[in-house]
Amino acid sequence: MKYYSTNRKAPEVTLEEAVLNGLAPDRGLYMPERIGRLPQSFFDGIAGMTFHEIASAVAREFFGDDIPAEVLDGIVADTLSFPVPVVKVDDSVYSLELFHGPTLAFKDVGARFMARLLRYFIGRNEGDSRTVHVLVATSGDTGSAVANGFLGVEGIKVHVLYPKGKVSPIQECQFTTLGRNITAIEVDGTFDDCQRMVKSAFMDRDLNGRMFLTSANSINVARFLPQAFYYFEAYARLRRMGIDGELVFSVPSGNFGNITAGLIAARMGLPVKRFIAANNANDVFLEYLRTGTYNPRPSIPTMANAMDVGDPSNFARILDMYSADHDRISSCISGVSYTDAHIASAMRDCYARTGYVLDPHGACGYRSLCGSLQSGEIGVFLETAHPAKFTDTVKTAIGIEPELPDRLKAFMSGTRHTVPMAPDSEALRAYLIEND
Ligand SMILES: *Cc1c(COP(=O)(O)O)cnc(C)c1O
Repeated sequence: MKYYSTNRKAPEVTLEEAVLNGLAPDRGLYMPERIGRLPQSFFDGIAGMTFHEIASAVAREFFGDDIPAEVLDGIVADTLSFPVPVVKVDDSVYSLELFHGPTLAFKDVGARFMARLLRYFIGRNEGDSRTVHVLVATSGDTGSAVANGFLGVEGIKVHVLYPKGKVSPIQECQFTTLGRNITAIEVDGTFDDCQRMVKSAFMDRDLNGRMFLTSANSINVARFLPQAFYYFEAYARLRRMGIDGELVFSVPSGNFGNITAGLIAARMGLPVKRFIAANNANDVFLEYLRTGTYNPRPSIPTMANAMDVGDPSNFARILDMYSADHDRISSCISGVSYTDAHIASAMRDCYARTGYVLDPHGACGYRSLCGSLQSGEIGVFLETAHPAKFTDTVKTAIGIEPELPDRLKAFMSGTRHTVPMAPDSEALRAYLIEND
């Protein structure tokens, strides 16, 4: 299977090249040339299949030409080492809990898959002793998912750049206590500094000639496509629970990778009536739906901070999937935008009414479904992170502290190791050369 760039000004590439490049040379995002429809027999039998079986069937559509079946099956099994339960929260409203992975957020799925795929590509040629350096700039969640996803994967070194004093203590522990092939670089600056340093490393011809650098953010096809797996799993679980209705997915969105994977699942035949993109105050997508004009802006900080994105990178993929047809996009996806006060009241109301503890991102999804479902519709919101990752926000909103799962406590007790660095691209360059 070939992958093309959404900008259509770069050559088509193989899966391996798409994964190693991340972004296409024309700065477009890679898309698979085919999105195959799964046969009716798959959907007829889906309620009797395991998550692993469902995900393998989906994975074969994209990666089956390029990866031997048993290898792909192993990668899928290894990635999905945790369940994604569907929990009833309210009348016709269900939570798809994507926080049961090692770092308690949905990004574990894509990060774990990508790490294993990359390992396969660099390990399959005899005598290939490349070390691949994965660079990530993080404001919190991405760094922990990527660091944990790649932990102990041979042939790969991960360098996580994060702004000193600007990530939560829990998040910091999740990438500073791991050791082994993971290095946390504490940048004396802002997230934007981290991102700029990483970008300049990718654009540095001389550096890229000396060593193998790649990125692991959500533009990468190997992180993005596996997120389709759990939309099918949600459907299978609802069927098994005997719940029948027209499916509405509400997806708390930042860079729009997660919701775009849902659109891919629907294109593969998953019966979804409509999608809701639930946003915080960073709502350029909602504005696009309303006006037909896309106006990226600098992001605004909110309490659902993993969604503070002013120029969602996967918007390019949505345009591509619908040939930039505003009417078609608006008929499949609607949008909502919530202030911090809305988000807090959704957390409070949900807890008071149902006893279910939401995190601030899932709260946007939940709120968008309440009172907006038509008769016959079943609403599923993606609970993208565990509430304990946002203890202070949750405690302020609902008055109690969410319980810290054991695997989070384990991170908290580890010893932190960081490499301090000035917010300077030259410093990163020198460090990388020294550590190749
Ligand atoms: C990354 C993230 C999001 C946003 O997902 P996108 O795929 O970027 O739209 C939502 N919630 C949480 C908790 C996240 O970490």
